[in-house]
Amino acid sequence: MKRQALWAGVLLAAAAVAGDAPADGQRWWAHIAFLADDKLEGRNTGSEGYRKAAAYVQGEFERAGLRPGGTDGYFQPVKFNSRQIVESDSSLTLERDGKPEPLALGEDAVIGLRVNPAKAVDAPLVFAGYGLTVPELKYDDFAGLDVRGKIAVYVSGGPSSIPGPLSSHYQSAAERRKFLARAGVAGTCVIANPIAMDVPWSRSALSRFQPAMSLDYADLDESGGLKLGVTINPAHLDKWLAGSGHSAEEILALAKARKELPHFALAGELRAKVEVKRSQVESPNVVAVLPGTDARLKDEYVVLSAHLDHLGVGEAINGDKIYNGAMDDASGVATLLDIAEQLHATKPKLRRSLLFVVVAGEEKGLLGSKYFAAHPTVKPDEMVADLNVDMFLPLFPLHILTVYGLDESDLGKQVRAVADPLGIRIQPDQEPQRNLFIRSDQYNFIRRGVPALAFKVGYEKGSPQEATAKQWLKERYHAPSDDLQQPVDLKAAADFNGVILKLAEVVANQDARPAWNSDSFFRRFAKQSE
Ligand SMILES: [Zn+2]
Repeated sequence: MKRQALWAGVLLAAAAVAGDAPADGQRWWAHIAFLADDKLEGRNTGSEGYRKAAAYVQGEFERAGLRPGGTDGYFQPVKFNSRQIVESDSSLTLERDGKPEPLALGEDAVIGLRVNPAKAVDAPLVFAGYGLTVPELKYDDFAGLDVRGKIAVYVSGGPSSIPGPLSSHYQSAAERRKFLARAGVAGTCVIANPIAMDVPWSRSALSRFQPAMSLDYADLDESGGLKLGVTINPAHLDKWLAGSGHSAEEILALAKARKELPHFALAGELRAKVEVKRSQVESPNVVAVLPGTDARLKDEYVVLSAHLDHLGVGEAINGDKIYNGAMDDASGVATLLDIAEQLHATKPKLRRSLLFVVVAGEEKGLLGSKYFAAHPTVKPDEMVADLNVDMFLPLFPLHILTVYGLDESDLGKQVRAVADPLGIRIQPDQEPQRNLFIRSDQYNFIRRGVPALAFKVGYEKGSPQEATAKQWLKERYHAPSDDLQQPVDLKAAADFNGVILKLAEVVANQDARPAWNSDSFFRRFAKQSE
């Protein structure tokens, strides 16, 4: 996107709102206009653009009268190991009966670098269904399967017999890797499940050139000792299944229907050669406090979180190589800044303190929030709730609010109490197969026992709004076109911000701290940390 077009974009976005664009919507958009400007170059973790964004957020926190909440003023520095593929020196080859079949990187499969790969891996392949272990349900894709020292090939997702939150939890990288390590798996080849693919393969494949990262702290290493992580294009799955007696059509039909999958050895071996450029980078989380007024409750914190990083500068799409991340997640950061500003203007008495946590490294695997949750700048048990705002997509009026984690804690009751009088209907996650409950920063708080919610502007199944949201994901999600030149409903954004602000106030003022529901799967983490 060129600079010239930018202001046209702002006007266009404002003009796209039906009727009058409310001042509070404009105020929210102004933060996005700064954070998603080309000058910030997509705010990649470790980049100069991210540094500028962090300085902006600090300035806005100061302006709103919030106190520093980091370890270095408002900042909490976080160190990352960065890895970038040298694809010209890397390869994947299937070998059967001594005959090599080279795979096209980017087309057949991509080598992912969230796993710190070995230079060379040469191992047999085993098809392990969904590659999932769920001890509570005695579900184990590795039971009776010989995968030691081998590469596990599996489809992302899980069978419909496993309830959503449970399935999502055990599909998280950290949980999966525990069980992969226990089974002795050397590496993984994950078949992207077509029902969960938000973006077309061709676009997601381009992201392989972006640096992947892990936290540079031994105590937070959850890699499980894997030596290789590959993602397989489902459209070319037959290459991998040749000689196994199974077809891609059969496997993908079962996966799409979320049915049980078979388990079997694949013919031949995979040879991988991986060349990586490594470096270390640092980016801060930005943290601020609005102190509570109650002598006792002010030592309890309601966390409001959003991620500041996006994907930076990458492969050009339609001539644009800046991945601005206007909705993902400048929009969520803007919500937090707007809430801080409104609280500064109206100065309501809040009994508990609010902790604003704006994190780095979300796009690299929720890393900044993982670091923060492990090393919070307040006492861990003083965090009573997390309300996370990530890409809530105000593309149409806010009549329905989709709430992730709705049925897990009494925060669900509170959000209903806030939304009902406004005529906003609350609904739970309508697409559990997309794993949104574990796909943003709230999850790192949940894993530390903190009840949490995440939100999106919702829609009914089969409605035109659903089509709009799906289209947005297909065209703009993790693409350079998630920029300042897109139509956004500023009234919906302002309404959304109002709900989150009100919810934060209610949670800060309620007598008892939020609690997990007695039947919630996630309650166990609270027990662990008690
Ligand atoms: Zn994202």
